[in-house]
Amino acid sequence: MDTLTEAFLPAHLLDVKRGVRRIVEAELEPIAREIDRIGEIPDIAWSTMRRHGLLGMRLPEEFGGASLDVASYLISLEELSRSHRVFALMAEYSSGGLALALLRYGTQQQHLRWLRKVGDGTIQASFALTEPEAGSDAAAIRTRARKTEKGWSLSGRKHFISNAHNAELVLVMAVTDPEKRARGGISAFLVPKDAPGFAVTRVETTIGSEAIKLAELTFDECELPDEALLGPVGDGFKVAMTTLVDGRLGVGCACIGAADRVLSMMIDHANTRQTFGKPLASRQAIQWMIADSAMELAATRALVYQTLMTYAEGKPIGSAPSMCKVYASEMAGRVTDRAIQVFGGMGLIRGFPVERFYRDVRHYRIGEGSSEVQRILIAREYLSTGREPRETSS
Ligand SMILES: Cc1cc2nc3c(=O)[nH]c(=O)nc-3n(C[C@H](O)[C@H](O)[C@H](O)COP(=O)(O)OP(=O)(O)OC[C@H]3O[C@@H](n4cnc5c(N)ncnc54)[C@H](O)[C@@H]3O)c2cc1C
Repeated sequence: MDTLTEAFLPAHLLDVKRGVRRIVEAELEPIAREIDRIGEIPDIAWSTMRRHGLLGMRLPEEFGGASLDVASYLISLEELSRSHRVFALMAEYSSGGLALALLRYGTQQQHLRWLRKVGDGTIQASFALTEPEAGSDAAAIRTRARKTEKGWSLSGRKHFISNAHNAELVLVMAVTDPEKRARGGISAFLVPKDAPGFAVTRVETTIGSEAIKLAELTFDECELPDEALLGPVGDGFKVAMTTLVDGRLGVGCACIGAADRVLSMMIDHANTRQTFGKPLASRQAIQWMIADSAMELAATRALVYQTLMTYAEGKPIGSAPSMCKVYASEMAGRVTDRAIQVFGGMGLIRGFPVERFYRDVRHYRIGEGSSEVQRILIAREYLSTGREPRETSS
């Protein structure tokens, strides 16, 4: 662990970090290779994560969780991401956005039916907001939910929904009042895989790991009972938005984990690979790539750790989660790019970890709200509070 991390994080978070790292190195890393080989998440990944309490981390013990505080959870995501992006996603599927929304807004009946199963990975669940005509502008969704005598009828299409082809349950955002839209006209629905009129109509892979798939979902007068509604009618946007802070900080931590691992690989390679009779590490061009990566990683840690500690204390953090997401995802892009350069041809070979990290971290600048949208949010906060640029002494 680097000196800054040791100095900055409190003892309990360092313990969490070391504990998760031990599990990652001993048990998850071999599974990471299997994930890349088969292009799917194997059962052993779920059972190993479950055995070590890495699923449902933030859920209360009554639902099989570990009641972990938000900072410990986010630090765990960083460590899981040192191995494979999939492990952090599994932790999120079972304990992040959807599980927290279910915990926060669900009725006792909904908790009993779904929460433990989502939390221990017995079933997988997905969160469906994005549509072909509504990505960054999420309030523009068209999927419509109409009240019927028996409950609700959903019609529309979602796309880019992570892991929905494996999901037994999908949390779907739909318009219940087209006049109000984001201001009380969108509601959240728990849609089981076997709901009549619901189908997974396409599965896409991306430039990232084959195991991370995005699905298109179609709702053709999909019939749902009243109990499918999560939270009050019209509160869907609130349900969706309450999970955003954790999601953005999660991306920040995941990018730190990925960049940290890639930097270690870069350093090992620079020390061992010889060209023209000397190790690469003796060349200034290579040293600068390592120095720049270490420097940017340290700056990202300072921003992300400071934000997550302040958040964990319950203090306001404004647009800092957006800053963490943009800064960390762009840093991870640069570090993994430099790593490929240091590895030369080997860095480009499919199946070699460095190229997989390079492809996987590219997602982080788009998913969970793109860099541009985060910059809009940051600028909006700074412009609205009327902050003047600070005077400098020079
Ligand atoms: C790996 C991955 C996983 C995902 N998983 C899920 C999921 O599980 N559930 C879900 O609901 N969605 C999911 N998404 C969808 C994701 O949230 C959207 O892709 C994202 O919000 C961007 O929307 P879009 O792709 O439609 O791009 P668009 O909104 O069409 O934007 C295209 C480009 O224009 C930029 N842009 C848009 N508006 C502006 C503006 N006003 N000013 C400047 N630039 C702008 C964007 O930043 C982007 O670069 C996932 C996406 C990815 C890549």
